[in-house]
Amino acid sequence: MSFDYRSLNIQSKTGDWLCPSCGFPGYFRGLSFVEGGPLIGTGICPCCTYEPGFDDVAAASGTPHSEPIDALRAYSKEWFAGGMRWWGNLAPIPGDWSPEKQAEGWKLHCKPILK
Ligand SMILES: [Zn+2]
Repeated sequence: MSFDYRSLNIQSKTGDWLCPSCGFPGYFRGLSFVEGGPLIGTGICPCCTYEPGFDDVAAASGTPHSEPIDALRAYSKEWFAGGMRWWGNLAPIPGDWSPEKQAEGWKLHCKPILK
């Protein structure tokens, strides 16, 4: 059975779209994935800089993973292993940003889908 990418369109209870890689809330304004994979040009996460349709597509970013879900898993793992830092140099860090709190939301909503 192939992975249904629509499960990566993840909303918190307050309606924020969560970045499936790092759990940043308020990620995009709408859907970034259809059943067969990521959509192109829906945005870039300001926190971990994950971009659906680019970072998870070998032909675009050169990721060694042929399946977008595997590339996303690797990307996410790298962000967490790197100490959950703010990678978005061009985006200001929200004043109330807490990587620990964000990671809790990711573990609750995103991790079960990525594992
Ligand atoms: Zn992110």
